[in-house]
Amino acid sequence: MLDDAVPAGNRTPFLLECLADLRDSLRARGGDLVVRHGDVVAETMRLAREVGADAVFAAADVSSLARRRQRRLDGERIAFRLFPGVTVVPPDLLRPSGGGDHYRVFTPYWRAWSAAPRRAVLPPPEVISLPSGIRVGRIPAGPSCTGFPGGETAARRRMEAWLRDGLDDYAEGHDDLAGDRTSRLSPYLRFGCLSPLELASRGNPDFVRQLCWRDFHHQVAFAFPELNRRDYRPGRREWRDDKDALQAWMAGMTGVPIVDAGMRQLAAEGWMHNRARMITASYLVKHLRIDWRSGADHFFDLLLDGDVANNYGNWQWVAGTGNDTRPNRTFNPIRQAKRHDPDGEYVHRHVPELADVPGKLVHEPWLLGGEVGGYPPPLTPL
Ligand SMILES: Cc1cc2nc3c(=O)[nH]c(=O)nc-3n(C[C@H](O)[C@H](O)[C@H](O)COP(=O)(O)OP(=O)(O)OC[C@H]3O[C@@H](n4cnc5c(N)ncnc54)[C@H](O)[C@@H]3O)c2cc1C
Repeated sequence: MLDDAVPAGNRTPFLLECLADLRDSLRARGGDLVVRHGDVVAETMRLAREVGADAVFAAADVSSLARRRQRRLDGERIAFRLFPGVTVVPPDLLRPSGGGDHYRVFTPYWRAWSAAPRRAVLPPPEVISLPSGIRVGRIPAGPSCTGFPGGETAARRRMEAWLRDGLDDYAEGHDDLAGDRTSRLSPYLRFGCLSPLELASRGNPDFVRQLCWRDFHHQVAFAFPELNRRDYRPGRREWRDDKDALQAWMAGMTGVPIVDAGMRQLAAEGWMHNRARMITASYLVKHLRIDWRSGADHFFDLLLDGDVANNYGNWQWVAGTGNDTRPNRTFNPIRQAKRHDPDGEYVHRHVPELADVPGKLVHEPWLLGGEVGGYPPPLTPL
């Protein structure tokens, strides 16, 4: 169902490719994907009446928008059932022994999550039948995605290649910015092209721990639906209103090469390496002291994997308003850059003005004295 809340920017072409691939898979099994455009609840009910359905089934989701939709469907005159699927462990299953409706800290959640019962990973049905006479509708045409072809077929191909060639090296390589040695499966998990349950059953502990972070943020968002607007841990934080600095950060023109490289990767690919997400987010909130909401909204607009729980949960974690047990931690961008991009390859790839600066100096071009290739000076002393 395509409604008024179709995802922003980069995610729309990706979603359309996912739907086309889903339609092909359903057709190969004798079914089809029925596409309607409009208000999700009204269109679902119209279709249910058309085919004389007894019930509507959906996968339970956690964002406030999804839950509003679920509540509305639940109020309709039809049986409505929700099933788990978005996360490995349902977001309302685990409760801390000390009380409370969700886990606020990751490590005890990871322990409980690891011991929690798992649903079975089931194969898809071999045959699907569709009531006759339904207008199946057209999937709107859109520009094609770059870098990430949408859909389950591409997702499974990437997953198999990753499990075969990338997984063993994950613990050692996941912070290597230039090496790009993470799975890049996040957009597929975001759009339900891959089952996180299946992936968790096939990964090693270091990788599965990251999937647990994904579940962790989902259970926080489930318990605290205002995660994308309000401080999860309220405190006295004073944010600066500096539109020029925010603009420079968004454009990848802060003058701090590692920050600019990350922001430009985001603009070019609709994706950013996790380490770069932490560095760029921390620079905005801890160095420029700009409200996390401005940065998170910008990420959310551009990320192919952008989702409320993970994006805003991670932003609040970095800002110190969320679930970090060390809310005052600050990432020094230069130290981070030297550790995770020691030869400057990631910066060279994304900041062409610095192409001629040797790798050892690329993270601190100001040490050369004077201007380098039109590249700006840093916005704040580091
Ligand atoms: C400021 C900030 C914003 C972020 N916004 C998002 C977002 O909108 N959507 C999103 O999926 N992830 C988000 N992340 C988490 C993480 O950066 C991405 O999931 C990861 O970079 C995706 O790349 P990958 O698939 O190669 O990850 P891998 O390292 O291969 O990890 C496998 C999977 O584990 C999950 N995962 C890994 N790290 C995290 C994490 N820190 N939190 C939650 N799940 C995680 C993802 O689903 C990922 O696909 C954000 C992190 C930060 C610091």
